[in-house]
Amino acid sequence: MWKTPAPASPAGRPPGGGPLLAVENLHVEFVTRRGVVRAVNGVDCALNAGETLAVLGESGSGKTVTAQAIMGILDTPPARVTRGTIRLRGTDLLGLREEDRSRIRGSRIAMIFQDALSALNPVFTVGAQIGEMFRVHRGLSRRDAERRAVELMDRVRIPDARRRVHDYPHRFSGGMRQRVMIAMAIALDPEVLIADEPTTALDVTVQAQIMELLSELRRESGMGLILITHDLGVVADAADRVAVMYGGRIVENAPVHDIYRAPAHPYTKGLLESIPRAGGKGRALRAVEGSSPDPMAMPSGCVFHPRCSYRQDDCAAGEPPLHPIGPFRGSACHYWREVLHGSHG
Ligand code: SF4
Repeated sequence: MWKTPAPASPAGRPPGGGPLLAVENLHVEFVTRRGVVRAVNGVDCALNAGETLAVLGESGSGKTVTAQAIMGILDTPPARVTRGTIRLRGTDLLGLREEDRSRIRGSRIAMIFQDALSALNPVFTVGAQIGEMFRVHRGLSRRDAERRAVELMDRVRIPDARRRVHDYPHRFSGGMRQRVMIAMAIALDPEVLIADEPTTALDVTVQAQIMELLSELRRESGMGLILITHDLGVVADAADRVAVMYGGRIVENAPVHDIYRAPAHPYTKGLLESIPRAGGKGRALRAVEGSSPDPMAMPSGCVFHPRCSYRQDDCAAGEPPLHPIGPFRGSACHYWREVLHGSHG
């Protein structure tokens, strides 16, 4: 039985009863020829029904690996979950047999991938690929599955669905292919939808349309949405809460407005200073200096310390935990007060 969470959990647990999805102390490693890569190092996060959690970070921060672990699609080997739990409405997914896990995949937790063209099979029509979900998971006939595919294509606003259900993926634009992927992902009414950089390959106008579609579907169905992105612009409009990842850890977790108003981790603050913002006319944009840590040789102590302008002598010694710093808010920085209140070092 799931215990009611503490109200001010730094993992950003939302108010109300137990979360829909709860990830606790998740560790994922890859065994490579060069050695062991610790890609995810103690991630805690939670998602409520009907909310959008944005997981934000540079490439290599561990956000996609976390999503793959939740979805149960890590390559095994070389990847392995070494510690932690992933609970869906209280059931630990990591404790399930693979056949039970695969029943959940697609029906209760679904995922949209970044590159719709390579995720779709070029030799089958989109109708056959969407309909496959109903045939495999619901046992529908080919004809009924196609009818459901047309309904779904209408729902994700692909024009002329009745005719286009017979088209192959290459006949669709990038935005329309992403709509096909979304149709497949929502086919079985999942409780959790993970969207991994769903708009990266699309132009700005189409990006906005896809994000609006995802928000609308979330509102209508009440599913929880995990939005994985490196794009702060996407986060501002779409998310309720944000988990910022760096070096395989969540370094800040907060309601979206708190993060934008007053970040409490130097990395989050650096990310915000690197993008143009409304009302920021005349403000110089600054990139976060340095590069992501080598996962084979993580820095000691605070993993961000080689790049941090708030760094103090003790930062390289002790790894900061995710301190609870407010309602549903946490920061993994020893000096979060200085960052939050704007004083420097
Ligand atoms: Fe920077 Fe130290 Fe905070 Fe790490 S703990 S983010 S190095 S100030």
